[in-house]
Amino acid sequence: MLEIVQIPVLFDNYIYLAHDAGSGATAAIDPALAEPVLDALHARGWQLTHILNTHHHIDHIGGNIELKQATGCIIVGYGEDAARISGIDVQLKDGDVFMLGSARADVLFVPGHTRGHITYWFADEHVLFCGDTLFSMGCGRLFEGTPEQMYASLSRIAALPEDTLVYCTHEYTESNGRFALTLEPGNGDLQTRMAEVRGLRAEGRPTVPSTLGVEKRTNPFLRTESVEIRKNLGMLNAAPVQVFTEIRHRKDRFQ
Ligand code: ZN
Ligand code: FE
Repeated sequence: MLEIVQIPVLFDNYIYLAHDAGSGATAAIDPALAEPVLDALHARGWQLTHILNTHHHIDHIGGNIELKQATGCIIVGYGEDAARISGIDVQLKDGDVFMLGSARADVLFVPGHTRGHITYWFADEHVLFCGDTLFSMGCGRLFEGTPEQMYASLSRIAALPEDTLVYCTHEYTESNGRFALTLEPGNGDLQTRMAEVRGLRAEGRPTVPSTLGVEKRTNPFLRTESVEIRKNLGMLNAAPVQVFTEIRHRKDRFQ
């Protein structure tokens, strides 16, 4: 059983700690910074054993070296991006299994946001650490990958169980939801989720994790089959990946 701690840092990043009580193994997922992680570990009396990186961006690996120096932890990431992941020790690829103590994570290669992005799926825990691939009601920008890659990556994630808790790395939910409502104002699930999100944000509370079920009902990037979205885009008969591409394009320009 994993215990998960959410640490808000910078403007809108989340670092997560995942702790396997039985073994004492503790991972920091995408540590943008070291100090908030060290503080959170200290407060709980935990020892950092691993860093799990989803991709190479600095707001995900910025704390790697300082944490490794302070704790001797093992840094885990995508092997083909090893040159861009500071201090990497364990090089993973798609389909690998990573054990955090007795907790098993399956590694899914999900390119699109970057060409070397992975997610960690702890199936028994119903937990997905998805980095910047899937956000609540949104998805990562396509910095290095193609729309086709990102669409395939999100389709893979969408095929996981609906009760999977989606631990994204950014609190982008409210602005994502405002955009989603421009495409699908008649979606009752989306209206309900946005009311909940606005309430949480007004109290300064996180909207993450979400669940995959909620995302499939509200996230336009997972709803390329929606007739309402397609009508609003004038793409009633387009291929799903074309609809995805147009939604991503519009989101890039949305304020
Ligand atoms: Zn990123
Ligand atoms: Fe990021």
